[in-house]
Amino acid sequence: MTTTDNSGDVRLSGISKTYGAFTAVQPLDLTVPQGSFFALLGASGCGKTTTLRMIAGLEEPSAGTVHLGDQDVTRLPPYKRPVNTVFQSYALFPHLDIFENVAFGLRRRGIKSVKKQVEEMLDLVQLGEQARKKPHQLSGGQQQRVAVARALINHPKVLLLDEPLGALDLKLRRQMQLELKRIQTEVGITFIHVTHDQEEAMTMADRVAVMNAGRVEQLGAPADLYENPSTTFVANFLGTSNLIEAEVDTTSGDEIVLKAGGGKLALPTGRCAAPTTTGGKVLVGVRPEKISLTHADDAGEIPAGRNRVTGKIADASFIGVSTQYVVDSPAGAELAVYVQNVDRDARLVPGADVVLHWSPAHTFGLDASQSVL
Ligand code: ATP
Repeated sequence: MTTTDNSGDVRLSGISKTYGAFTAVQPLDLTVPQGSFFALLGASGCGKTTTLRMIAGLEEPSAGTVHLGDQDVTRLPPYKRPVNTVFQSYALFPHLDIFENVAFGLRRRGIKSVKKQVEEMLDLVQLGEQARKKPHQLSGGQQQRVAVARALINHPKVLLLDEPLGALDLKLRRQMQLELKRIQTEVGITFIHVTHDQEEAMTMADRVAVMNAGRVEQLGAPADLYENPSTTFVANFLGTSNLIEAEVDTTSGDEIVLKAGGGKLALPTGRCAAPTTTGGKVLVGVRPEKISLTHADDAGEIPAGRNRVTGKIADASFIGVSTQYVVDSPAGAELAVYVQNVDRDARLVPGADVVLHWSPAHTFGLDASQSVL
């Protein structure tokens, strides 16, 4: 019989945290599978660090349980959990060299021959050459890698990362995102990463939980969250969503047709998170890079079956390879459109009358009774 190792599964059941009358984390059920790179994403104060600290054992839940694999660790102190944490402040020992910083966890457990393990760990984070330097002689990114090596040396089942890249500049942060992803793939253990940076979560994680006001709003693979958000909060937090107010006209089979701005828009039933009864209000969304622009004079060339609304170019800015347009539309919204590789001569200018068109398959529907950010 083969057994699957699930000791790195993290299962939160009804876990919550209150401080007096204030609820920082609402009752939360969440399973993070062994070996995955999972991100808790949300704005400051949404409860992501508190959730992470409850997994680490640094914060006692007000209710609910934490399981690692089959073990209920809810009442275990941090040091008895097979979990380690990397913080934004690297918390390295300034007087010890890099080798000794990484060796610390082994020595504390009374292990004498540490050389091989420490060298392996330093190789993993590509700092083999820096072993005899002191922390202040390393860059911020290198220091963060030492912190990761030190956290991994005791072979935890789960590594928790609390805004680990928050202190780094943008370029270094991007490098470290790829580096952390590589390290996670190599060691194969569960990583749970807390961040407020949507790009960081989307780049690194296999699955992302978007948190808002102590609740998980939506959980899924990054591309699914981006392409098929289920709330206005998620739609807006993960990018520009171009929300258009619409009303359900007809629903037939797997397609919904809505009335918007004097025209009709269609979307697949499976992409609508709002009730679909006729007359129901829906916010229709589409990401800016999914929209094509055609000059109103050439509207006859637009293939049938595409969603379309009319508009007038309000602003055009050239940003690297993409041209970003702002379009005023009678659909009731100012719409953003990003077009790649536009020839200078073909760029549309402010004042031009245009038709915006896109595939129904790239359209999502949200519940209009929710507040919009
Ligand atoms: P940030 O990115 O700013 O750390 P976060 O999403 O990680 O934000 P938490 O640190 O989990 O948020 O805090 C969630 C809420 O709980 C915040 O409103 C915070 O002020 C509150 N909170 C956290 N710790 C305590 C505490 N010890 N006592 C009272 N309130 C607290």
